Amino acid sequence: MLTSEQIIALESKYGAQNYAPLPVVVCRGEGVYVWDPEGNCYLDFLSGIGAVSQGHCHPKIIAALTEQAQRLTLASRAFYGNTFGPFAEYITKLFGYDRVLVMNTGVEAVEATLKLCRKWGYRTKGIPEHAAKIIFCQNNFHGRTVAAISASTSPQAQAGFGPFVPGIVHIPYDDIPALAEALKDPHVAAFVVEPIQGEGGVVVPQTGYLKAVRELCTAANVLFVADEIQTGIARTGQRLACDHEGVRPDVVLLGKSLSGGTMPVSAVLADDKVMLTFQPGDHGSTFGGNPLACAVALTALRVVEEEGLAANALRCGELFRQAVRDLKSPLITEVRGRGLLNAIVLDPELAPKGKELCLRLKALGLLARETRETVVRFAPPLIITPEQIAEGVRLLGKALVPVEHRDLAPPLIVKHGEAAAVFRGA
Ligand code: PLP
Repeated sequence: MLTSEQIIALESKYGAQNYAPLPVVVCRGEGVYVWDPEGNCYLDFLSGIGAVSQGHCHPKIIAALTEQAQRLTLASRAFYGNTFGPFAEYITKLFGYDRVLVMNTGVEAVEATLKLCRKWGYRTKGIPEHAAKIIFCQNNFHGRTVAAISASTSPQAQAGFGPFVPGIVHIPYDDIPALAEALKDPHVAAFVVEPIQGEGGVVVPQTGYLKAVRELCTAANVLFVADEIQTGIARTGQRLACDHEGVRPDVVLLGKSLSGGTMPVSAVLADDKVMLTFQPGDHGSTFGGNPLACAVALTALRVVEEEGLAANALRCGELFRQAVRDLKSPLITEVRGRGLLNAIVLDPELAPKGKELCLRLKALGLLARETRETVVRFAPPLIITPEQIAEGVRLLGKALVPVEHRDLAPPLIVKHGEAAAVFRGA
């Protein structure tokens, strides 16, 4: 097998340079652990940016994947596939919506939703043709297509990629008066919001925000779209993050762990009055809702339910935040999150930058990534145990050495991460 160094050299020479990965090569995964080609073991506190909630290579999901892969992978939606119906029934009943549109990546679910909301705006709400507007929040993240970056307020996401899609209105996140004002425009078809802004640094809105969003959108006859691609499927300790406030959006977007991290599967959930806006030919994808994806996604959702992963995320998330607070590190100014979607905010004066901290963590055997210069996100698989949480926080405590004592920080290059010892003992 190639060494980590060789693999990194190949990617640097031949790969598009649209990512700046941490210098760690991951070649095997099991549960909450991954290994590099040299055999070093790491606790994975990023889990494919929340896509591997069920743990790496969950045996039931891999069994569903391999069984279905040997029978039929793709039929195209020109014909009926025998796994779409059972999956559609399961996911709609589980989340309580009439219908599901199945796509591939998360951003495709976002794109499909923008089309759906616009058409609903014209055909049902009576917005004049080409005048529909969609409200988004500042600091959002909905993906990387032209429509998604048009909805972004990140200079980096947009720089060099204009012109942008029109009909987008921005308001501050977690700001109900701003939403109320924006909803006065009768041309608004939808408000698209993340219940917690994940990529934006795990920004949790005030309690009551989503409830107020629901009430205002209903009053204005505007679709409330919850992008739960990062927060959904038990990540925050409930099936949906909106469940924390007992709120039911008109449209819910899911992705990531919908396949247990095995392949791209995303979904748009809505009731008949919205989803039936789409007529045959209005939207589609060669791979969307393919037999393999549906078989895998059905199993991936069942695993989340059968293993009680929402309850575990809730419990382990509380343990994580408490344990980080108990570190009493002056380098951390805030610990925030819900369930197992959490972040620490680093003091810009005292602490290393997020990326340097992640390098130190990697050297100790824990993988995580910064989402902002001074914000590091921790989103381990939801199957994690309290002992593994404690171990992760212990490693974090060890890595948190003030910048002026860099020489006391653990070395950035080590042969074996300490996490390996935990795995052997597990
Ligand atoms: N929406 C949200 C809230 C996300 O967090 C992401 C990805 O992180 C996306 C959409 C885009 O998903 P994908 O990368 O699968 O296209």
